[in-house]
Formats: sequence, C-alpha cells, structure tokens
Amino acid sequence: MKEIGEQILKESDVAIIGGGAAGCLAAIAAKEAWPEAEVAIVEKASIRRGGSIACGMDAINVVVVPELSRVEDLVRAQMSAAQGILDPSVVRAVGEESFGVLKDLESWGVEFPHDERGQYQIFRQWTARDTAAAVTSISMAGELKVILEREVAKRGVRRIEHAPVTAVFAVDGRVAGLSALHIRQEKFLVLPAKTVILAAGSAARFGLPETGVLHAVFDCPACAGDGYSLGYRAGAELVNMECVKHYFTVRFFNGPGLAPLSHGSRLVNALGQAFLEKGSGGLELNNYMDLFSAVLREYREGRGPVYIDTRPLSREMVEELERCFFTTERPTFKKFFNAWGLKIGRDLIEANLSEAVLCGGHGINGLKVNARAETNVTGLYAAGDVAANATSLMGAFVLGRIAGREAARLARQIGFAALVAEEVEAERNRVMAPLLRADGIPPALLERKLRQTVNQYVDNPKSGPKLRAAETRLARLRHEVSRLKAADFHDAMKAVEVQAILDCADMVVAASLERKESRWGIYHFRVDYPERNDEQWRKFVVVKKDVASRPAVSTQPVMGG
Ligand SMILES: Cc1cc2nc3c(=O)[nH]c(=O)nc-3n(C[C@H](O)[C@H](O)[C@H](O)COP(=O)(O)OP(=O)(O)OC[C@H]3O[C@@H](n4cnc5c(N)ncnc54)[C@H](O)[C@@H]3O)c2cc1C
Repeated sequence: MKEIGEQILKESDVAIIGGGAAGCLAAIAAKEAWPEAEVAIVEKASIRRGGSIACGMDAINVVVVPELSRVEDLVRAQMSAAQGILDPSVVRAVGEESFGVLKDLESWGVEFPHDERGQYQIFRQWTARDTAAAVTSISMAGELKVILEREVAKRGVRRIEHAPVTAVFAVDGRVAGLSALHIRQEKFLVLPAKTVILAAGSAARFGLPETGVLHAVFDCPACAGDGYSLGYRAGAELVNMECVKHYFTVRFFNGPGLAPLSHGSRLVNALGQAFLEKGSGGLELNNYMDLFSAVLREYREGRGPVYIDTRPLSREMVEELERCFFTTERPTFKKFFNAWGLKIGRDLIEANLSEAVLCGGHGINGLKVNARAETNVTGLYAAGDVAANATSLMGAFVLGRIAGREAARLARQIGFAALVAEEVEAERNRVMAPLLRADGIPPALLERKLRQTVNQYVDNPKSGPKLRAAETRLARLRHEVSRLKAADFHDAMKAVEVQAILDCADMVVAASLERKESRWGIYHFRVDYPERNDEQWRKFVVVKKDVASRPAVSTQPVMGG
C-alpha cells in the first residue's frame, strides 16, 4: 500500500477555512481582538490571489454612507429583494459596520475614487431605485487582494496554503478541529481548533455552463460548494437552498454583464427589438428577477440570442466601462473582447444567463448565521458567500470581521475539545481512498455527469416528480463515489469536491421539494405550485444532516422581518 503522510498541526484558537474576503477580515479581526491568539488560515489555493475578488470586482455593492444612506433603508431593500426570506438582523449588522470597514480598507491603501466635490464616487443599483440611497456602490481601485494579504501577514496569522479543508470535526455539537489535504506536501493534515470560521465561498461549480467547460463558471471556481458541505457534515443548519441562482453574463466569456446595463445600455433580441424598456428608455426593473425571466423568455421563444446594445452610450461612459471591465473587473475580459473583435460603444455584445449557482453573498443561500456570525454548532462561525446574507463583498468583509472577533472572544474562554480518533481515521480513509484505488473513474468525469444532472433535474423549472427523479439520479451518482480514482493529490481534492457538489445537490432537492410554492422568479419555480404563497411560505426552509447522513428538512419563521 502506498504510504501517505499525516501530520497533526499545532493547535489553533481560531482556524479559518478560506483566505478570501471574509477569511482575511476574520483573521485580522481575531488577531486584533486577541493578539496572542493562535490564528490560522487554511486556504485551498493562495491567499494572495485566491477567491472571488480575483474573479472580478468593480465596486463595493453595499455601503451605508453616513448622511447619504441609512441602515434601515438597506435592510428594507435587501429584505424586499429576498422577498422576505432573510435574517434582517444579519443585514442590519452588515449595514452598521460597513462604513467602518470601508475606512479600514482605505487606511490599508485601498482607493475609493472621489468626485470633484470630494465625495465618494457612488452609484445606485437598480434594486435601490425605490429605496433612496440604501444600496450604494462605491467604486474602488487597487490591488485589493494583495493589500489584504499584506495586512494578514503583518499580524502574524499562520498560513496553510494549497490545502483544501476536507472536514470540520464537531464533538457533541462543539467544534474540535479540521482536516485538510496538503496538495504540494502530499499529506493529510489534522488541525485541532477551539473555533472554526467557515469562509470557503459559494458553490460556483453547481450547474454546468453552456460551454461545457467545468471551471469556466461565473463565480470563483475554487469554491465548489465545499463550505456548504463542510458545514452540513458538521451538523450546521442551512437555509434557502432551494433558491437556485443564475447571473446575467457576457455570453461564452461568462463574466459580469450587469455593469453596461446599470450605465445605460439597452437589451435587444436577435430581431433587434428592445425588451424590458418602458416609455422613452432606461430600464424599469423592480429587481433582477424581471431581467432574468425576460432573457430566458427571449431564448425560449426563439428570439435569441440576446444582446447588450452599448451603442447609445456616450464616449465617457464607454471609457468608464472599459476601465471597469478591463482592469478591476477581470483583465481577461480585454483579451476576450480583442479575440472576438468586440468594441464597447460600437458593437452588440451577446449575453445570456450563467450556469446554476448557490451563493449566500450575491444570493441568499447558505449557512444560517445570526448577527454574531454564529451557526447552531458551538464554535462554528460562517461568513461571506458561504453564509446566507445577500450583501456581497461588504457582507463578506463585515461578517468576516464579526466572526473573527466573536471566535477570538469565545476561544479565550474555552479549552480544546478532544478530537475523536475514529472520526479522524474515517475521514482520512474517505479522502485517501481514490488515491489508493488501482483503477476507477476520474473525478472530472463524475463531476461532469453530476453537473449535467443538476442542469437537467435539479435546476428550474421544478416539479415534485422531476425532483423525485433527481433524488434517484443523485443516489446513483453517489454510488459512483466508491469508484473514484485519483491520479494525484490534486485529483484527490477534486474527488472531495465532487462529493461536496453532491451534498449541495441533495440539499437543493430536499429544500425544493419542501417549498410548495414558487418564489424568487426563475430561482425557485415549481410548475405544480406556480404561485407565491406568503401566507404559508414566508418562512425559512432549513436543511440539516440527519442520523442517516441525509438532508432533513424543517421550517423556521423569519424573525423581525
Ligand atoms: C465575477 C464576480 C464579480 C463580483 N463583483 C462584485 C462587485 O462588483 N461588488 C461586490 O460587492 N461584490 C462582487 N462580487 C461578490 C464578492 O466578490 C463576493 O461576495 C465576496 O468576495 C465573497 O467573499 P468570500 O470570502 O465569501 O469568498 P471568496 O472570496 O470566494 O473566498 C473563498 C476562499 O475559500 C477558498 N476555499 C474554497 N474551498 C476551500 C476549502 N475546502 N478549503 C480551504 N479553502 C477553500 C477559496 O480558494 C477562496 O480563496 C463579485 C463576485 C464575482 C465572482
């Protein structure tokens, strides 16, 4: 039998899973709250370049700027966008600390452009039109991720990189530590920890994109739903898993497509007809759902492709968009535009909806947390896209900061819970099995089959019979896990990721079956219950692992909504 190294790492007071926006702010806050604490970030990729920030970022979507916007307006806007199914106390917490975080970022060197009057350069998103300046975007520049990494390093945070976490161990409902696979050192790591902060991002690799390329997804492809699965397996509650999200993207590149619309472009179909316009022009949308439904309708009814018509834009606006797309958003955008011979302001840009995705920051699904970023598992916190919060990058920053502070406070008061040797051994066997198998199926193949299944059976439109067929199909795919063969440690990570995507699919199916209504436009549409029913369903559908390791579903009221 091939020898595989194992290493028990030095204990951590606070162990953070993921070194993205939320993870970095959590580490900084934990060290500031308790400078002597042993704080570690365990990151699948690298802290310097990993996570969604590196995928594209033009603005901080949510900031409550004193004298310009109010926390209450933010709460109202986000609750309205979530159609009432969100914890308002979490949104409030984000709103209250948002400006403080912005100031911290500035003090670290992140630049926020100002206008000629010396005010922050802001713009209002569509969702904020009816709520004054509640959701205020502030554009930014600079090497955000590089700056965050520097601040983390300055504070003496331990970094364990290229090491995907595979399990969070909880003993009697309390966190005891985690395990990870060190891809480069080819080792199975065990890290005892008093508290764990889950900041592992969204489930970007949920549906298969129309290009068929596994990693060419809108959200950060390193985030395969690991965070949802890690929390679920540790006994945490997740909410809104039935809300299956899509983005509006530049087709085939799969990059963000909303910015040109926010800046005054119009949408046209293949017949050159503008759709979604009212009166003399400009988009009149209550929220993104109208846009997404309309785009789908044009494709389904044979009027596709759909194009973003940037020709009405002024020269200044074209320059602004090019700056945004080609620098802070995604530098590879420029390569794509050049390769396809496209020019903003001159050409129609083909657009479509992205693959299905689960995301707690841009969307509303994920671990259920309170305003202290606590989950129902003692010592387990969640922040960023892995947690249900709907407040994008600022939500990740603020919840990360709160989680770091709270975890440090708890860790100071408690001792270490003992890891259960059998559980650690079982996890080691699960993770290593594909490496030890003589032959079998490559993880990428199973992932393709699984994500195709998500497109065909799990994504909208949904119905009871279709979702039950999904259950059968997913169970068959789960059998194939025992045949996975990993060529190397990188492949072994992919085998773990496939299992995380499977967990996500199981949770989505269970929650979708439970919510017997339609809600959130195309995000949860049941043909057998086509109407929204606030009287019965204005509540959370909660998913939690049962004793048979299957998703158990219950409902909980939305408090204070
Ligand atoms: C293309 C794009 C454009 C966006 N534009 C904007 C915008 O303009 N404004 C805005 O406010 N928001 C925007 N967002 C949203 C915003 O970027 C996210 O909400 C935010 O960055 C999420 O932070 P996070 O820390 O939760 O996740 P991430 O920053 O994605 O970090 C998660 C980290 O966890 C790591 N990880 C994953 N699995 C594991 C594991 N098993 N073990 C260890 N580590 C793991 C990943 O490698 C990653 O580094 C955008 C997102 C995308 C994808």
